[in-house]
Amino acid sequence: MQLLPGRRLRIAIVGGGIGGLTCAATLRDCTDIEIDLFEAAAKFTAIGAGIVTWPRTWAVFEALGLNKEMLEKMKRLDSVEEGFPAWEFRLSDAQKGKKVHELYYENATPTNLHRQQLLDFLLEHLPPHCQVHFGHRLVSCHEYEDARGFGVELRFRNGVVRDKYDLVIGADGLKSVVRQAVIARESGLGVLPEEKVYTQGDGVERLGEDGQCEVGKRNDILFTGQSAFRGLVPREKLAALHPNHRVLRTSTIYCGKSKHVVMYPINKGQIVNIVAFFADSQSGSPVILETAGSSSPQNNRVPTEAVVGMYPGWEDEVVDVLKMLENATIWPIFDLQPLKTYVTPRIALLGDAAHSMSPHLGAGACTAIEDAYILGSLISKARLTTPKDVKSVLDVYNSLRQPYGNEIMRWAREMGEYYEFDSPDVQVEVEECTKSKLVDEVNEEQLAVFRKGAEKYWSWPVREAGTIGEKLLGEPAEVSSVFCRI
Ligand SMILES: Cc1cc2nc3c(=O)[nH]c(=O)nc-3n(C[C@H](O)[C@H](O)[C@H](O)COP(=O)(O)OP(=O)(O)OC[C@H]3O[C@@H](n4cnc5c(N)ncnc54)[C@H](O)[C@@H]3O)c2cc1C
Repeated sequence: MQLLPGRRLRIAIVGGGIGGLTCAATLRDCTDIEIDLFEAAAKFTAIGAGIVTWPRTWAVFEALGLNKEMLEKMKRLDSVEEGFPAWEFRLSDAQKGKKVHELYYENATPTNLHRQQLLDFLLEHLPPHCQVHFGHRLVSCHEYEDARGFGVELRFRNGVVRDKYDLVIGADGLKSVVRQAVIARESGLGVLPEEKVYTQGDGVERLGEDGQCEVGKRNDILFTGQSAFRGLVPREKLAALHPNHRVLRTSTIYCGKSKHVVMYPINKGQIVNIVAFFADSQSGSPVILETAGSSSPQNNRVPTEAVVGMYPGWEDEVVDVLKMLENATIWPIFDLQPLKTYVTPRIALLGDAAHSMSPHLGAGACTAIEDAYILGSLISKARLTTPKDVKSVLDVYNSLRQPYGNEIMRWAREMGEYYEFDSPDVQVEVEECTKSKLVDEVNEEQLAVFRKGAEKYWSWPVREAGTIGEKLLGEPAEVSSVFCRI
């Protein structure tokens, strides 16, 4: 395939989620770059209702010139009211729970956006030189440097083969196929021969009988040992029983030993979003075994009684809400084996493909947006003149995002362990046989460590990632001219 006249580079973005679409939007001024965006689904769809964004995410939208239009067009589902904490933390595994901490941010109110609206908005802002290909599920990504020259070849399940990309951006989420090419190269396996693409247990993509990727067979994806029930409760329903229920206004994390429940209002307080976690590292409940690896909510339905039964003896304000859950679903929680690198000379990973994280800090989508913006800015502003320059830009991207992404992924996992008092820092033993409760066993010293941890990990939304600007100073002039301060 030849470059179209006047085009200097050919880029493929694999995955049209929040990360992939943001990256394409960032490349809007690169009219001399050919961009193909491949999405497995037949259209762009989002799972889940809301996504919490922070001022640092809005700095990206502002830099893209999208913030004003976004504010006008998109329904914001603000959750935190003036004077209320961003989060309240409680010990809740007994009839009488207790508040242990409140977290406030100065001048950093989170904004809750509707996921599908965000995708639709980004889609509207795809540059005209970006060709979207739906129904293209990538099955292999092959980077080569041989008699043919150099480039990246992509093969799709529908039989389509596209070749000679100068750069492939893997934005294909948790089960990323592009990640396999990065791991293979980094681990010295080099380019995987085609017949290995579907083999089991060596960290490469494997397709089950239903054609879905079998997550459990991959060694780059880690089951965190936790699973979560998710569901929504309408405000009216809850207010009828508890007119002053805390979660009608305050985002709350209810902690117990090896379990915790997160509840927060969305949709201007009209709905309460519930995510109830429990540790399942030992045995794996039948529910989990049946649903592990499924990415479809329809397949993950669980009866309300199963949810309520998981939290016996918890304070009424938790149990009463759980009883109101309709259409609850269950989700195994995964994160990744931290990657040593997010890039090869011609491939870059972003978002969940690079650092799929557990949801305990609500940071995954925002980090994907930042990755996408930084990678896109580097490509667009560095004025690459030859495909070979791609490597130097990707190295800069990697030096900025790999340490950060891996750290936030680790923080998210550690925060989850704190909520359940399972972290070595704040471990509390609870005797199952004597039915002791976290709320009775925890002491002031442990609570002080918990509070300190919550302050540290939840500092991510306001943490300066200004190192981005600083780090660029040492890079080649054309790259260091990029301004991507967040
Ligand atoms: C249940 C749940 C709740 C969450 N809640 C929050 C939250 O409140 N706040 C937050 O910040 N984050 C949250 N996250 C995390 C957040 O959703 C992700 O971090 C974010 O969506 C990552 O965006 P992405 O574009 O990297 O990947 P994705 O959103 O996963 O998008 C990947 C895209 O690639 C496509 N794709 C996948 N494989 C292929 C293939 N082989 N070929 C072609 N296309 C492919 C997919 O169809 C999809 O469109 C949550 C995650 C889950 C699972």
